[in-house]
Amino acid sequence: MNNYDFIIVGCGFAGAVCASELARDGKRVLVLEKRPHIGGNAYDCKDESGILIHKYGPHIFHTDSKRVFDYLSLYTEWNDYNHEVLAKAGDLEFPVPFNLNSLHSVYPGDKAEYIEKKLISEYGAEKKVTISELSENPDPDIKGVADFVYQNVFLHYTMKQWGKRPEEIDPDTTARVPVFISRDNRYFQDKYQGMPKYGYTALFENMLGCKNITLRTSADAREYLQFRNGSIYFEGEPFDGKVIYTGALDELFSYEHGALPYRTLDFEFETHPVSSFQSHATVNYTVDKPYTRISEFKKLTWQEKEDVTSTVKEYSREYDHTTDDIPYYAVINEENNALYAKYKKTAEGYKDLFLLGRLAEYKYYNMDKIVLLALELCDKLLRR
Ligand code: FAD
Ligand code: UDP
Repeated sequence: MNNYDFIIVGCGFAGAVCASELARDGKRVLVLEKRPHIGGNAYDCKDESGILIHKYGPHIFHTDSKRVFDYLSLYTEWNDYNHEVLAKAGDLEFPVPFNLNSLHSVYPGDKAEYIEKKLISEYGAEKKVTISELSENPDPDIKGVADFVYQNVFLHYTMKQWGKRPEEIDPDTTARVPVFISRDNRYFQDKYQGMPKYGYTALFENMLGCKNITLRTSADAREYLQFRNGSIYFEGEPFDGKVIYTGALDELFSYEHGALPYRTLDFEFETHPVSSFQSHATVNYTVDKPYTRISEFKKLTWQEKEDVTSTVKEYSREYDHTTDDIPYYAVINEENNALYAKYKKTAEGYKDLFLLGRLAEYKYYNMDKIVLLALELCDKLLRR
């Protein structure tokens, strides 16, 4: 007989928040994580030069949700941090999201003034406009800006990231980085922004520090759990608790309806014998280079190292589930959503199985959204 009330598959934000909330309510929780560490894609650790790096790409926390910010603040203090990104488009450099400062740095002064007035009268100051909305504007000056932004911000970066043109991918994806009619250079305008003062892994350790949680890392749930004819088995025995699953759904059901498409990333970490590598924490290469962006960790986390700095380049490509690739981004479109719906239907045959997170829900979620969804799932499970 096993004695867990909940088995949670995956120890990223989705799994860890649930484990913490359920365990603090007195539930006995087993967490199975197939990687050798906690934190999922938010995991950070020190590299050989002693710099804290984000092992799965740069993670910047931002949210408008007071609930999420207050909740995470129970487990971490914060460094105030407002992310700014520079685009390098060949010889041109300007802030992204493309904003009024970008406009002034790429257009001659008079023309930039004139177009700024037009944009403000058309859309309003401090407003955000997606590239697709902007492209539909018949005004030739505004259309000119739209064409510039399309060519110099979106087209090549999107081709690198998704292997498709901007108009071929889910419009919500490019809408994450709208043109901003503002002088505000920040990448996000959320009310709460920051980086966990001692890193994400420390935050996770604090969240998971409850005696009711048993954590097994390097533990692939497929070796412990079976799903057969509406019943769940743990280590060969019927399991009468609940399972929260945060991994990929096609993998859970052995790809029975076919593989769900994802994009994966190859990360190239480098350490440089200089105190600063680039002007901004992240530089997006929007027209050339095979990688999408370079991030410099010291600029995200304020680590004090005089003579050395570490960076990561991101290369995107198609995910292959038959290898060790990690699925990072769901490729959201009608066809893939329909395939996902088949898996969801299969999952609904298990009344004690709950799906949560970026992989299990096949969605493009930021960390804060996952934390909120995890808290809401626990509200439901704990009837609070
Ligand atoms: P994950 O973090 O992926 O955790 C799922 C866990 O489940 C993984 O650890 C996995 O190993 C485990 N698992 C899967 N299958 C099994 C199995 N069979 N058995 C056991 N364990 C299993 N969000 C932001 O808010 N800000 C950012 O700046 C940001 N930057 C990002 C940059 C990159 C490059 C990427 C890829 C994502 C970024 N995100 C960012 C999104 C963020 O990573 C996610 O929102 C968050 O990690 C989702 O948490 P999760 O728990 O759903 O998934
Ligand atoms: N994007 C782009 N150029 C940029 C930044 C973003 O074309 O300089 C597009 C690209 O399609 C990308 C999407 O906008 O995948 C979302 O960007 P975001 O920075 O939110 O991506 P993430 O940080 O989640 O990888």
